[in-house]
Amino acid sequence: MTANGPSSIHPPVVIAGGGIGGMVAALTLHQIGVPCLVLEAVPELRPLGVGINLQPNAVRELYDLGIDDRLLDTIGLQAREWALVGRNGKDIYAEPRGLLAGYRWPQYSVHRGKLQMLLYQTVCERLGADAVRLGTRVIGYRNHDDGVTVQTESRDSDRQTIEASLLIAADGLHSAVRAQMHPGQPPIQWGGAIMWRGTTPGVPARSGASFIGLGSLRHRVVAYPISPPDPVTGLATINWIAEITVDNSAGWTQGDWNRRVAVSEFIHHFADWNFGWLDVPAMLRGAAEVFEYPMIDRDPVPTWVDGRVALLGDAAHVMYPVGSNGASQAIVDARVLGAAMIAHGVTPAALRAYDEALCADISALVLRNRGAGPFGLLGLVDDRCGGVFDDIDQVVPVAERDAFMARYKAAAGFAIEALNVAPPTIAPGARVASLARP
Ligand SMILES: Cc1cc2nc3c(=O)[nH]c(=O)nc-3n(C[C@H](O)[C@H](O)[C@H](O)COP(=O)(O)OP(=O)(O)OC[C@H]3O[C@@H](n4cnc5c(N)ncnc54)[C@H](O)[C@@H]3O)c2cc1C
Repeated sequence: MTANGPSSIHPPVVIAGGGIGGMVAALTLHQIGVPCLVLEAVPELRPLGVGINLQPNAVRELYDLGIDDRLLDTIGLQAREWALVGRNGKDIYAEPRGLLAGYRWPQYSVHRGKLQMLLYQTVCERLGADAVRLGTRVIGYRNHDDGVTVQTESRDSDRQTIEASLLIAADGLHSAVRAQMHPGQPPIQWGGAIMWRGTTPGVPARSGASFIGLGSLRHRVVAYPISPPDPVTGLATINWIAEITVDNSAGWTQGDWNRRVAVSEFIHHFADWNFGWLDVPAMLRGAAEVFEYPMIDRDPVPTWVDGRVALLGDAAHVMYPVGSNGASQAIVDARVLGAAMIAHGVTPAALRAYDEALCADISALVLRNRGAGPFGLLGLVDDRCGGVFDDIDQVVPVAERDAFMARYKAAAGFAIEALNVAPPTIAPGARVASLARP
């Protein structure tokens, strides 16, 4: 068996899934001196996906892992503004983001696949390439008194078992480990929103690094750059999501959760959305490829832990991508888990402490995002004036808009002062004291 770190006697912590959460968990365990092995289902990691946002609380954790602005600037750019704009093109709400908002750490808008590759590369550099075993799907586990047996399957259906001290399941939306841990969990929940996503070269609007949510709660477009403008052409890579909400009573009938579609299939919903400063139809048409996703999540489960097994990232709390917190929370999970191991060792008690620290609060966030998260402000405007207004202050006064956003940020862990004064999740140089098996 391949293990890395100071002790090859102690069985490694096995991490199921080499996505954002799994890779950050591996880097964290390495930082605190715990041997680990990542099992990733796909035979080759490729930079898949489009744009995501990393909130300052998650960027702080990456910095603490030595993945700082020099590296993050190669895969994205620092966000400057978050803005909601009505269907009439008029501002509803805007606030500075990241350093401009007063955080000690920036917010980053990055390409999800490039981030995953950066983390993978860093894991290979620090832990060695054999710390990630590709083409190895985790299909189940069995807890026993002094460890956990992880069951795996290779691409050619070869089944094996691996002994681990703990199993961290970062195996995403369709987590096999979660399905075993919570066999009665309801199916994936789709609330009726359909998203079409792509990237298009374009001139970034507003601040040059603005996240723009435009339209109404059930019919909207999000656009933000995930690269700086090219110095010659002035064009940046603009990540966009076009979204409508439809009747979901028949369930999601398209089968695939991530289907490539032609722009002609949905552009009619946005045909006259040209505001001058943002020409939505041109932006949609300019994408090389477009993917259709239903907006889905899962009902929260009462615990993320079963003995020596813990869920992390989307496996624990897949949520609607309305608050830019899916990837950020996966990163934070990994760090909180590392801190719990420093306090309790590589033990089930560490997993229980992690569960207690996060499960209830983040489950509440999943449900809050189902209620539209920060986009709920658009819903308020729709309710009060059908989305049509001359003066937003007459519809939702500024104090009410500010209070709405402050509540969301506090719940999602983005509150500026609280984050700025919080000690690091893992103190510099902190390591797990003993690797002896409990
Ligand atoms: C291909 C892909 C593209 C995505 N694109 C976007 C996007 O464009 N925008 C966005 O907001 N979010 C996207 N996401 C989701 C986003 O990455 C996550 O919400 C977030 O980063 C949380 O990360 P995670 O590590 O929990 O899950 P993920 O990043 O989804 O990683 C899960 C990993 O586990 C692997 N895996 C799955 N099952 C098993 C198993 N049984 N055994 C071993 N490994 C397994 C998967 O191959 C994947 O590498 C994408 C996810 C994937 C996998």
